[in-house]
Amino acid sequence: MEPEKREKITGKMTIDPLSPEEVERGEKIPVVEIFYSLQGEGMRIGTPSLFLRTGGCNLRCPNLPCDTPYAVLPPYSLHWEEMEIAQIWQKFTPYLHLSPDLVITGGEPLLHWQKLSPIIQKYPYPITIETNGTISPNFREAPFYKRVIFAISPKLSNSGERKQKRFKPEIIRKIGKFAPNSFFKFVLSPANLSQLEGEIEEIVQFAPHLPIYCMPQGENREELEKNGGIVAQFALSKGYRYSDRLHLRLFPPVRGV
Ligand code: SF4
Repeated sequence: MEPEKREKITGKMTIDPLSPEEVERGEKIPVVEIFYSLQGEGMRIGTPSLFLRTGGCNLRCPNLPCDTPYAVLPPYSLHWEEMEIAQIWQKFTPYLHLSPDLVITGGEPLLHWQKLSPIIQKYPYPITIETNGTISPNFREAPFYKRVIFAISPKLSNSGERKQKRFKPEIIRKIGKFAPNSFFKFVLSPANLSQLEGEIEEIVQFAPHLPIYCMPQGENREELEKNGGIVAQFALSKGYRYSDRLHLRLFPPVRGV
């Protein structure tokens, strides 16, 4: 959604602001952007959602076109805003009367899971956290994370990352066990589907009950149309689900949509 349109959306606040105790537990988080739009991918596709994008990632994926280099690469960090939990919540309040999902994404947002805790506890509607599946919250210390939908998007060999760094079976197992509403989402390019098929099978065995979504790689509508049919055929052949990239079809390929 364009910034000027977002600015026009106001409404009566229906959810209490954070209490002083809740604010006290918060610390500053590097925020890349906060915006309101439709969830374009995965299990909650099409749902009106507030997006909170945090800065920083523990991976680099040298061979992949990272969707969000501006949330990962150090030079961009100059433009991130260190925000208190209360400041973030303030940005949410004009939209809360619309009952939006909250989508926390990155980079790798679970780098900040402890600092994000007051938001996870307080947010009244469904929460999705988009993660590369190499970091997990401590579900005993922070049991409220059990209600989160983790969109686990493990990186495969085509990312160029070392396997020991990008594939953490114990993390996949833990998220699958404690947050059973989660799902896998693999971003696939038709060029190496046959090679990646075995890698997907190796990963999903650690949380076999979670749905598996295949999403075509693509940074614009043309690439999506070129890759989508082949990835959909692959999903069908394996009994996996297909995820489109709705925002590429509906909006121009710019940030904040
Ligand atoms: S894990 Fe995702 S956000 Fe992090 S570097 Fe790789 S593609 Fe980019």
